[in-house]
Amino acid sequence: MTTTIIGYPRIGEKRELKFATQKYWKHQITADELNTAGQELRQHHWQTIQAAGIDQVPTGDFSFFDTTLDTAVLLNLIPARFKKLALAPLDEYFALARGYQGVAGDEKALSMKKWFNTNYHYIVPEFDNDTEIRAQGTKLFEEFQEAKSLGINARPSLIGPYTLLRLSRFLDGRTPDDFLPSLAAAYAEIVTRLHGLGADWIQLDEPALVYDQDAHDLDRFTQLYDTILTAKGTSRILLQTYFGDVRDSYKLIKTLPFDGLGLDFVEGPENAAIIEQNGVPESLTLFAGIVNGKNIWRTNYQQSLAFLANLNRLTDHVVLSTSSSLLHVPYTVRHEHHISEDEKKYLAFAEEKLTELVEIDHIQANGTDTLAYKENTALFAVPRYAENKTLNAKIAALTPADYQRTPERATRLAIQAKELNLPVLPTTTIGSFPQTAAVRRNRAKFRRGEIDEADYTAFNEEETKRWLKFQEEIGLDVLVHGEFERNDMVEYFGEQLAGFRFTDNGWVQSYGTRGVKPPIIWGDVARTHPITVDTTVFAQSQTDKWVKGMLTGPVTILNWSFPREDVPNKLSTEQIALALQGEVLDLEKHGIKIIQIDEPALRENLPLRQSDWYRKYLDWAVPAFRLVASKVQPTTQIHTHMCYSEFGDIIQAIDDLDADVISFEASRADFTLLDVLKKVNFQTHVGPGVYDIHSPRIPSESEIVDIIHHILEKLPAENIWINPDCGLKTREEPETKQALINMVAAAKQVREEL
Ligand code: GLN
Ligand code: ZN
Repeated sequence: MTTTIIGYPRIGEKRELKFATQKYWKHQITADELNTAGQELRQHHWQTIQAAGIDQVPTGDFSFFDTTLDTAVLLNLIPARFKKLALAPLDEYFALARGYQGVAGDEKALSMKKWFNTNYHYIVPEFDNDTEIRAQGTKLFEEFQEAKSLGINARPSLIGPYTLLRLSRFLDGRTPDDFLPSLAAAYAEIVTRLHGLGADWIQLDEPALVYDQDAHDLDRFTQLYDTILTAKGTSRILLQTYFGDVRDSYKLIKTLPFDGLGLDFVEGPENAAIIEQNGVPESLTLFAGIVNGKNIWRTNYQQSLAFLANLNRLTDHVVLSTSSSLLHVPYTVRHEHHISEDEKKYLAFAEEKLTELVEIDHIQANGTDTLAYKENTALFAVPRYAENKTLNAKIAALTPADYQRTPERATRLAIQAKELNLPVLPTTTIGSFPQTAAVRRNRAKFRRGEIDEADYTAFNEEETKRWLKFQEEIGLDVLVHGEFERNDMVEYFGEQLAGFRFTDNGWVQSYGTRGVKPPIIWGDVARTHPITVDTTVFAQSQTDKWVKGMLTGPVTILNWSFPREDVPNKLSTEQIALALQGEVLDLEKHGIKIIQIDEPALRENLPLRQSDWYRKYLDWAVPAFRLVASKVQPTTQIHTHMCYSEFGDIIQAIDDLDADVISFEASRADFTLLDVLKKVNFQTHVGPGVYDIHSPRIPSESEIVDIIHHILEKLPAENIWINPDCGLKTREEPETKQALINMVAAAKQVREEL
């Protein structure tokens, strides 16, 4: 059998690409120097892949920012406003990704969106009246030849036309159908050129096939590939899918002259039954994605081999592969120093996954009498950790009443109104205040053991006092302590709860040069001590106004961690929810009346197929949130907060969280959310963020007054809160203060009109 991977992380083992790129942006190195750094990295990666024993090496997965953007540039999808800047190619590329402000002009970046159900973000290509599709880019071809010069006959890869159309923005009233012929022709030309350069295989990524498809979608797909596949000559075309199954397109794919089909058997387990029922044509090689490209656990060889044995009943033409690009996992376990050697054996990042593929291939050919097989089976023979039986028994015994807060929301809100005695249009913030250099230094010093806990806490308390004073002075109604003790809203809670592990260097690209370092859910999660009680109670002791307690919700903690594979996500989320329930009740016991449970990532793991939304996800994610808050007194007000995505399509599920109040990010989407809230008669009281905290721009008082008026046109005044649209930790202090002063003044002004 042959082995391959769909793609490799490009940021480098020590994030070399990030640092080189940032230097270029700061004019500390030249374009040539950045290109050389990129070249060294990709060559090192190809050689690593080859040295591990992988047979087919992909190219085209390297990028200075994003491969969807690379494909757009390849196809001349560069909006006229960027061409007008007349920048050098690399600068034009970065202008598309990040915007440009300088002597040549002032252009905002193309927009950026989440890549399917991952935390990676792609740049959204634009099609408009000026679009002239033409295969003009050179990067794809150059990288293929670069690999060839090293003796590697690589498999060039790019985003396929169908997915490209599905993910792009269409302006000037244009639609995807307008571009089918020209796009198909350009891809055909690319394929012809790659064939001319000697490419044996060419990989076209079409993950959009794992969304729900209708007849019109499939027709588009056929039109595109009818043209493209005529151009392949003796090159072989791999249609690569990932993140789900091809239930509605497999029959069609089978009829088209593809040479390879990449299927994800990890996130798309349904694929197995689909090919079983429909058969695999003799002419089609199956690229079987069996090593998880999105998670960090060792593969269970016994299970993989059993699966492959089954697959071999259907076809002899199988290539072993990853379920998705390895872009979504960190580079290597080798640089982890805070996870014990024993525990590291359970982990496989990108580099280790290469070895796994080769080992599985070897064992399949030569039998299980190998050390690798024995070591692997030993890992799965005994549990990785001691199960928390008491906790799991408690979860098994939960009844519907445990997920149901009483009395019902309208009654509670009336009780809370009396208890809290807040004005109409109450003002608040989302939780964090600026994480200044001093705040970060204080945390770093404590972490390194340079200061003791007393000094560390004293600094944070001073910072809290300073910001409480400001909040009181400007007249905010519900105050926060500022979250100065938190590095990251998930990592902070993970570190306090039992059951998590953390990496030193487990960076995963989020977008461009930005990375995230998700914690690992190692075992059963439980609360062993109070987490936020001290800081919140301290803040409340300093003021007569209400201080809002601040927690990260169970679904967000799960979605921004590497989850377990030995139990369903539902169970881990319930465990986290019970831990947080303990925290909520503890805060309540200590006199905290308002508690916010943030769920910015609620939408993140929504299944790609709408038909699976409830069945596979919302049916347990929504109850998990409810479990956190279900036991509090009616007088305690539960808030939640959501941002980073549009929520219109799951608005009912959000209302069903049964929170008392929710703050939303709404300002960037032009408040279209308000119409949706109105339409569904949204019951949760709501603070649609009145200004965008992602920009340093200070909104004026009158501007915010207008926005509040706009909100009042759509929703009853008694239901509305006034707040920014997210936490303020990334902002500078002066702009933060002025924006909040204007916000509170605006709320007061409108209040007087009511
Ligand atoms: N309470 C958090 C903060 O203010 C919320 C962050 C978020 O929504 N991403 O920082
Ligand atoms: Zn937010």
